Amino acid sequence: MSKNLTSRAEDYSKWYNELVVKADLAENSAVRGCMVIKPYGYAIWEKMQAELDRMFKETGHQNAYFPLFVPKSLFEAEEKNAEGFAKECAIVTHYRLQSDPDKPGKLRVDPEAKLEEELIVRPTSEAIIWNTYKGWVQSYRDLPILINQWANVVRWEMRTRLFLRTAEFLWQEGHTAHETKDEAIAEALQMNNVYATFAENFMAIPVIQGVKTESERFAGAVETYCIEALMQDGKALQAGTSHFLGQNFAKAFDVKFANKEGKQDYVWATSWGVSTRLMGALIMTHSDDKGLVLPPNLAPIQVVIVPIYKSDEQLDAITKVANDIMSQLKQHGVSTKFDNRTTQRPGAKFAQYEMQGVPLRIAIGPKDLENKTVELARRDTLTKEIVALNGLPELVKGLMTEIQDALFNKALTFRNSHITQVHTFDEFKHILENKTGFVSAHWDGTAETEQKIKELTKATIRCIPLDEQNEAGECVFSGKPSQKRVLFAKAY
Ligand code: AMP
Repeated sequence: MSKNLTSRAEDYSKWYNELVVKADLAENSAVRGCMVIKPYGYAIWEKMQAELDRMFKETGHQNAYFPLFVPKSLFEAEEKNAEGFAKECAIVTHYRLQSDPDKPGKLRVDPEAKLEEELIVRPTSEAIIWNTYKGWVQSYRDLPILINQWANVVRWEMRTRLFLRTAEFLWQEGHTAHETKDEAIAEALQMNNVYATFAENFMAIPVIQGVKTESERFAGAVETYCIEALMQDGKALQAGTSHFLGQNFAKAFDVKFANKEGKQDYVWATSWGVSTRLMGALIMTHSDDKGLVLPPNLAPIQVVIVPIYKSDEQLDAITKVANDIMSQLKQHGVSTKFDNRTTQRPGAKFAQYEMQGVPLRIAIGPKDLENKTVELARRDTLTKEIVALNGLPELVKGLMTEIQDALFNKALTFRNSHITQVHTFDEFKHILENKTGFVSAHWDGTAETEQKIKELTKATIRCIPLDEQNEAGECVFSGKPSQKRVLFAKAY
């Protein structure tokens, strides 16, 4: 493989796959559809986890852990949920292997070791969790239950892509139980808002908060809220979902409570999740033809210092300055790495950190030692300048905020210039054929029209934006009356 990436203009999807591997984020594994997340990629995921976890706790949630397996009888209890996930389940049928009498050195499933009841590897955990909540809730005093779980899940996806869609993925799933419908809806909206705030403030990814149509709704939900982001190739990505589950799971698992009037009522539920797909969103929002571009908030290394030297004496002198810069940056809360490997030339180091999206690079050479300066290079703008050592930590600290904001504003400008209001189906098709992002159009509210549009253009309704105002109009496809515009796009 060459050092350079395929350009985005040439082949966006090839660019993405190459970048994931060359930036050392993840790679395909021996298991179909499952990836290995490498240390650098995992360090970014850990930063996402830490911030999300902080936000969940700030909104009153606690972490817990439930089993990986769901007995089939529990899995099928909420019929719509079961039906929705049935097509992509991994199922455990046996619990033992034995030597194969016909093939020396090989193993086979022990036919005697068949499970009495099959176990489903969780594609999502509502079933096992609501079966558990049944034992936890008797009265309104036991509510609300506000729990989050960090876990892996398995969905047997046919067409997989690193981070975006894998058969096994890492995620968090919140599962809450409430006394009233209003409280549960408020919770689902609150968590969707937490996701939006996280995406925008932390990942520098602008998102649209909306509600899904019935055909895009989570199986078993009454309403699915979501955050939708726009990638550089004009395709949308569902970056997170938050579901109002009504009393569907409480009824399926018989979770009742005595309310304040002493009457028995079913508990109201929500669930919400974001996954390692966010890594894909991060890559496809900010990165360029030279590799990954990371917002400082998510960068495992925010600043890298590269020494440029010919002799050991020069390296010693540079090391002293570098150590000094590092300790000052540490005090300013900036994570810094001094790359003093002698096995790599500076050029190779520059290329590596560019590919890995380190926001700032400081290069120090013999001339800088004389002049008390360093060379400062920004990854997002690819600009370089010589700056004085004096005041460097404050400058770097300020740049962390500046780069974070610049990345968000750039992505926001791109996103906003890729939402087009259309009035006719010709305009609609034209926008989609030219890969220009979201189409805002009137829709008659029927699943039939939604399906036909999907067949003709491959575009789906990404969401009905929460802040969309009512506006009388006609469906772009059927001409029937419509009260609101919805957002269509081709999606990952
Ligand atoms: P859901 O439970 O279907 O609402 O999905 C919760 C979150 O996981 C959403 O943000 C999805 O976009 C994401 N997600 C769903 N399927 C996959 C997959 N195969 N790989 C990675 N992320 C996924």
